[in-house]
Amino acid sequence: MPQEKAKLKEVPKPETESDAVGKEEPSVCPKCFGTGMEYLEGRGVRPCICRKQRSQSGLIQAAKIPRRYDGCHFSSYRPTNPSQERAFKFASRLAMDYPAVDRGLLLMGTVGVGKTHLAVSIIKGLTERGFSCLFYEFGTLLKEIQNSYNPVSKTSELTVLAPVFNADILVLDELGASKPTDWVRDTMAHIINTRYNDQKLTVFTTNYLDRSGDSRDETLQDRIGIRLRSRLFEMCKTLTVSGEDYRRSFDRPLEAAGS
Ligand code: ADP
Repeated sequence: MPQEKAKLKEVPKPETESDAVGKEEPSVCPKCFGTGMEYLEGRGVRPCICRKQRSQSGLIQAAKIPRRYDGCHFSSYRPTNPSQERAFKFASRLAMDYPAVDRGLLLMGTVGVGKTHLAVSIIKGLTERGFSCLFYEFGTLLKEIQNSYNPVSKTSELTVLAPVFNADILVLDELGASKPTDWVRDTMAHIINTRYNDQKLTVFTTNYLDRSGDSRDETLQDRIGIRLRSRLFEMCKTLTVSGEDYRRSFDRPLEAAGS
């Protein structure tokens, strides 16, 4: 079948000697010389630190955090008001206490108040502790599911969904941002309910609030539906983060310089 063919990766050609000329030698750990065990004079052997580092970097890669969040860590977050202080404390405690936590987290608030920064910091804290994490913008995830949909079997490929169901901690960024069609709501409900039933921790961020200042603004419930909103009350601690758009502060030095 053409689809099956598309899934197969081309087998790389064996490298010739001339190809290899000029290539760097693979780096070998100077402590264990690639054996994974470090020898300590007079004390025997112990697992080498390079093993731990390698598995941590594998976990962080598998979390698929977009490059633009490389600088997001708890240590680089600067709370500017009590709501941010509270969100910071809750998020860092979650990253420390997991798995001894009973609920995930729903960070809601306007754009640029650091919700994604904190969600990414949770992933970084937890991958350092050896847990498998996954980051997805909700819209991207829905597109990937849609693209993998097979109209014959009427299912989406498990290659997309399995990691979403199985990750110890899943961050779903920008909940409610996609146009709420029936398909979007059903798919969201399927993902969220599966994780809920499996008692897996999920962290959400959303730019929609529970109550809108203006009656014309949509609430989170308007975007995701009453049932899903209610489910999230059960699954997550909801914290509202307020403040100015932090990105505006990136402009200030230039303004001050008169540009
Ligand atoms: P949100 O998800 O609330 O829309 P982001 O977390 O994407 O906002 O933040 C936008 C940018 O501002 C990011 O580069 C983030 O690192 C930075 N940022 C936001 N709030 C803070 C903060 N309190 N301290 C440090 N950086 C922040």
